[in-house]
Order: sequence, then structure tokens, then C-alpha cells
Amino acid sequence: MLYHSTRNHLKTVDSAQAVLSGLAPDGGLYVPEKLPAIDVAACLQEDTMQMATRIIGALLPDIPNMEKLVKQAYIGKFQTEELTPTVDTGKFTVLELFRGPTSAFKDVALCMLPQLLTAAKREKGMEEDILILTATSGDTGKAALAGFADVEGVKICVFYPEGGVSAVQRAQMVTQEGNNVAVCAVKGNFDDAQTGVKNIFASAENGRLTGGNRLRLSTANSINIGRLAPQITYYFKAYADLLRRGQIQMGDKVNFCVPTGNFGDILAGWLAKKLGLPVGTLVCASNANNVLTDFIRTGTYDRRRPLHKTDSPSMDILVSSNLERLLYFLSGDTALVADLMNKLNKDGFYTVPDSLKTAISEEFWAGYCDDETAAKTIENVFKNQKYLCDTHTATGWAVAEDYVNQTGDKRPMVVLSTASAYKFPAAVLSALESAEGMDEFAQMERLEEVSGFAIPANLSGLRQKKELHTGVIEKSAMLDFVMGL
Ligand SMILES: *Cc1c(COP(=O)(O)O)cnc(C)c1O
Repeated sequence: MLYHSTRNHLKTVDSAQAVLSGLAPDGGLYVPEKLPAIDVAACLQEDTMQMATRIIGALLPDIPNMEKLVKQAYIGKFQTEELTPTVDTGKFTVLELFRGPTSAFKDVALCMLPQLLTAAKREKGMEEDILILTATSGDTGKAALAGFADVEGVKICVFYPEGGVSAVQRAQMVTQEGNNVAVCAVKGNFDDAQTGVKNIFASAENGRLTGGNRLRLSTANSINIGRLAPQITYYFKAYADLLRRGQIQMGDKVNFCVPTGNFGDILAGWLAKKLGLPVGTLVCASNANNVLTDFIRTGTYDRRRPLHKTDSPSMDILVSSNLERLLYFLSGDTALVADLMNKLNKDGFYTVPDSLKTAISEEFWAGYCDDETAAKTIENVFKNQKYLCDTHTATGWAVAEDYVNQTGDKRPMVVLSTASAYKFPAAVLSALESAEGMDEFAQMERLEEVSGFAIPANLSGLRQKKELHTGVIEKSAMLDFVMGL
């Protein structure tokens, strides 16, 4: 199946090459020329592994042996073979995406991406090893490390800002095992680490580091179609659960509310709808960084505003890269998308034509909530529904309530839960009681006592695990560090 850039439809590549390249050479994102057809009724009868095989296989048909890849990616790595269970709380249905090896929703995609990347590499006869280079502000780094650890033909190197990630996040990364992983703290903030990584890419020639080691550079970030495709599966899975519980009949529309950062997760929901799943409204939930709320309501995307540091840090984003794909899908106009992205880059904002604004508002609804409302929501949901949610999920829940209150829409609502509450113990515990004077591990234990919800094994064992990657370097030393791998 052919893919082309969101900014130019003339140069095409097959789906295996799209996964290998990540980003198109013109800076655009890869999109399929035509969406595949899926037998939705058959898909909804299947278990999660079969659904994933069918859906990812349909979108990436040039990567062979999909069933085997899906099993290698997921079996034994998640708390349940369903991968992403749903919980009926009596009010909303919560879709739990955090049951994977690092307790973050990014596991769903980052367990699968290494399989897709190495299979695409074999398919294309590429002999060099790949080096995945990532700067992280916390969550992505660990999920990528866990996904790529011990995968043959790939090495992974993660840089994080010294003092810039939580104690739990640091412990998750520095204890990572695997013969192909490297983790290093950088003296500086996240932007310094990110700039350092970009500089390493810029110093490479044709994607290769100059010098002795023949490694081809790549990234694990969410613009790769190989990260997006696996996320479509859980929308089908959630719908199938509602069917099985008799909460809906086949064909009934279901709404989904998605805590959104880079727009990858919610775009996967939109793709599920385009593949034929009966989806009603997709509700886009933001925190105080409400660029997307403004965009969906007004048609103007404006990143010229300060970035707020919030209790839901994985949504602290001003430029949501995957939105570019939606602009293309709804307009079909690569020249328009290229213009808009150019304007965003140059002027910091753009306004879409009225027809595109209307098309977006027919399928999406947007809202946001601040830290205080999210904390209040954690408290209320725990009190009323006996369910413990993290700060990102609480943001989604609060916006889902606003949606229902403002529209009166009575269709079932599924709220996507993107992280375990135990990844953000300080904020979650202090929503329930005082968390002062405790370190994060003590907060985790106290939260377990208060809530009765178990700490996931990957987090509870962390304090005892051996620290393997304790290096701290100057930002100017990042290239040398990579050359030494
Ligand atoms: C990455 C992330 C999000 C945002 O997902 P996008 O696909 O970037 O919109 C939300 N919550 C958590 C916990 C995340 O890690």
C-alpha cells in the first residue's frame, strides 16, 4: 500500500518504507493514499491480538507475518492478554491503556514499533543497525527503552534532563536492563536535551553517524505511522466490550474522550471511525495548555503562548504534530497543509478555511481543565465511582462531563485512561489527602493504603532495583556519548 507525505502527494513509498523513514523527507507525515477496508463485524468478534493483527496488517500490508509480530510484541508483557481492559464505573466506561510494562499508554504503541521497524528493515534488506535516539521529559523514554530492550539489530539511547523528571520516572529509566540500551542524564532542562538530540541528527550524513560505527539514526516519537496504527485497535476493543456487556447494540454510536497532547491517540480514534467503527463524537481533552481547544472551537491554531507546567505533564505541548494528518485527511489537499505548516513555523499560527473548520467540528468537540479541577475530579471519581484515576485521565473525565452537560448527548462515553495513578503519586495522593513530607515512593505506598488499588509490579519493585545507568554529562558531550555506543 502506498503512502505519501501530508505535504506532497506525488512522492510515494510503501508502508514498510514509511515505518522505516518515520518522517517524510519534506518534513510532512506519512499518510496512506487510500484507507483500507476492514470487516468491522468480524473484527469485533475477535480477541485483542487478532484485532491488532487485522488492523495493523491492513494499514501496513508490506510488512509480512503480522500475526507473529503482534504476538512477539505483546504476549507476556501486559497485565492481561486483553491488553487494554475496560471498566464500567456506572457513569463513564474507562478504557485502561496503562496495563503494559511501564504503566503508560505509550506501551501499546512502543511494544509494537520495534517489531514493525525490524520487520520493515528485513523486508527492505537494510543491513545496518538502527540507533533510536530520544530525549524525554519522562514517560516516552521508559516506554521506548522497555519496547526496544534486547531487540536485535537496534540500539536505543535515551537522554533525560538531570533533575527534570520525577523520582519514579528516573528510577524507571536508570534501572532498565538490556544489552542494547543506554540512558544518560544531561545537565540542563528538557529543551537542552532535545536540542542536543536534534544536533546529533543534524550532524549525521544521510541519517548515519560519521565515524566508525555504521548505525542509522531513527526516533521513537509519535509521528511514525508504526506508532499510530497499533493505537487504533483499542477503540475496536472498547466497542466490543460494550457490545458484550449488552450496553450497546451493533451499530450504536459510542463517544470517546481522549486526554490529548500530540494528537496521536485521538487521531487513532478518528481512523477507527474511518475504518467503519460506529464512533459518535471524539472529545479532545486538554489541560491548561489549551491550544487544541481553541483550534477546534475557532479554526485558528496559535502556539504563541507560554507553556504551562501542569500536573499532567505528558499533555504539556504547544505543537500537536499529528494534527497535520487530520488536516490532510479532511481536506485532501497537500498544498494547503504545506502552506499551513509553513505558516505555523514562520508566524506561529494559522487559520484553516471555513469548510475545514466545519468538517473538524462535525467530528470533534474540545474542552480543557486546569490542575485544580483535575484534582477535584480525582477526589469525586474516587468517592462516587470508587475508581482511582491519574491526572491525565482526570482531565479527560472532567472534559467528558462538560461535554455531556453542554450537549445533553446520551450516547455511552468511553474515557481513555492513559497512565496509572502510581506514575504521578504526588498529585494523585494530594487530591485525596495531604501528601506533604513524603518522597514519591512513600506517597505510592500511602496511595495504595488509601485507595485499595494495587501498585503495578513494575513500579512497586523499583526502589529495590539496581541502578545501572548513573551517568550525568554536559550537554556538549552528548555526541561523544553516542559515538561511544
Ligand atoms: C503521551 C501521553 C498523552 C498524550 O497522547 P498523545 O497521543 O500525544 O495525544 C496523554 N497521557 C499520557 C499519560 C501520555 O503519556
